[in-house]
Amino acid sequence: MGDVRGFLKHDRIKKSHEAIDKRLGHYNEFTKSWKKEEYTNQASRCMDCGIPFCHQGCPLGNKIPDFNDAVYRDDWKEAFHILKSTNNFPEFTGRICPAPCEASCVLGLNNEAVNIEHIEREIIEVAFEQGWERPTVAKKKTSKRVAVVGSGPAGLAAADELFKMGHEVVVYERDKEAGGLLRYGIPDFKLSKQVVARRIALMEQAGVTFKTGLEIGKDVTANELEALYDAVVLCTGSTVPRDLPIEGRELNGVHYAMEFLTHQNKVISGELKALSPELNVHGKNVVVIGGGDTGADCVGTSNRQRANSITQIELLDKPPTARAQENPWPEWPMVLNTSTSHEEGADREWSLLTKRFIGDDTGKLTGLETVKIQWTDKSAFKFEEVTGSNQIIPCDKAFLAIGFVHTQKKGVVEQFDLELDSRGNIKCQKFQSSKPHVFAAGDNRRGQSLVVWAIAEGRKAAMAVDNFLVEVEV
Ligand SMILES: Cc1cc2nc3c(=O)[nH]c(=O)nc-3n(C[C@H](O)[C@H](O)[C@H](O)COP(=O)(O)OP(=O)(O)OC[C@H]3O[C@@H](n4cnc5c(N)ncnc54)[C@H](O)[C@@H]3O)c2cc1C
Ligand code: SF4
Repeated sequence: MGDVRGFLKHDRIKKSHEAIDKRLGHYNEFTKSWKKEEYTNQASRCMDCGIPFCHQGCPLGNKIPDFNDAVYRDDWKEAFHILKSTNNFPEFTGRICPAPCEASCVLGLNNEAVNIEHIEREIIEVAFEQGWERPTVAKKKTSKRVAVVGSGPAGLAAADELFKMGHEVVVYERDKEAGGLLRYGIPDFKLSKQVVARRIALMEQAGVTFKTGLEIGKDVTANELEALYDAVVLCTGSTVPRDLPIEGRELNGVHYAMEFLTHQNKVISGELKALSPELNVHGKNVVVIGGGDTGADCVGTSNRQRANSITQIELLDKPPTARAQENPWPEWPMVLNTSTSHEEGADREWSLLTKRFIGDDTGKLTGLETVKIQWTDKSAFKFEEVTGSNQIIPCDKAFLAIGFVHTQKKGVVEQFDLELDSRGNIKCQKFQSSKPHVFAAGDNRRGQSLVVWAIAEGRKAAMAVDNFLVEVEV
């Protein structure tokens, strides 16, 4: 620990963002690096606690006090090696991780937490600049072949680890480009697609093979895959969106959030030539249904497309601004989250139930009827409508951002005849499915989650596959 009094000398500082009016003019990332001395000061706030709770807060178990200490000592190369020892892709987590580590930082008990996520981003960017981040090749090759299905963060992490263990790895992806939600879900202004492409290029240089535009279960059957590989890791995500089957759902103008976000990402990358009128909200009144992060991404994208008005509505009550007594440190704080997209502008409403979508004679969406609700038993998901609180919100485009129900069963999961859990995800014992040579990791196993969890799952699944392959050998 470099400076024992660092946390007394320096306050936490905010991330540096481009001004709102400027950043709304483009889709690029807008978070800038601090000056180098700020990283030294911010890293010195880490207290190197006897029990660093941040370790358990981070699903990857990142050695946070160690890399903070190295940054404070200006040894960025050491910081990079410490970070990479537990995290395959700090350039993703350093940009878009909600940082559960910071929620459990001991300094957060009576002060503001250490700026862990932003330091992480800088460490990996310095490593790329300096050429320390290079393709990693296995010291010894095995004769085993593993197929990874799906190239989101779980599939990429599993492939990266399995390749480093010496196995031949082929990643199959049904989309045109690899990356999963990193590429086709998360907006460019949060995560540049060049950052995703840079990592995939590095993995390809190392020797991982990517076969894109191929859907397993359709273009290649499960039987064909089995015949070619010693083990298969399914990292197919949780791709079935939750619907809102109420009156007017069929109206022209009601879309899943992912239709909107994926479409915009494809236009930016050039995969699509232009926005389709269906998914262009320029001058339109937008309502985003769902108060979570996907909803916030719709808000940020709608602002960039210059919507006339944006309202984000949520069924749950407005969270408190500070931790409630029953939600103590180091638990994840259930407090009001104002994202950078919210700062850019949107009306936010809570405790609102959508009753019906309203349309005109041509079948076009014109509004939304909502009613205020009062929760009677949150654990049993019970609420009552508040009499007389119905209102109509004018709306040309409504985006459903209310989550995903489970992984897709049709196709590869059905063909392998895999057992599912009670929520409809792939049932596993230590990442091994009901078929011994088929493993699963990421959102298709744990349900809709986070990038950091997907990376952690990919790493653990790779270990399970390696153990399985060794046992088969013996
Ligand atoms: C809009 C949005 C924004 C988000 N923002 C954040 C954020 O800011 N921070 C965060 O931590 N998390 C965020 N998340 C969650 C995060 O993206 C996911 O938890 C994570 O990507 C899951 O990784 P995965 O590898 O399991 O699945 P995915 O990323 O979903 O990747 C699955 C891949 O498998 C492919 N696939 C599926 N079936 C087949 C098949 N049969 N054959 C071939 N390929 C197949 C899919 O095309 C896809 O590329 C966000 C999610 C969404 C939807
Ligand atoms: S990966 Fe996420 S949780 Fe882990 S140290 Fe980085 S920001 Fe924190």
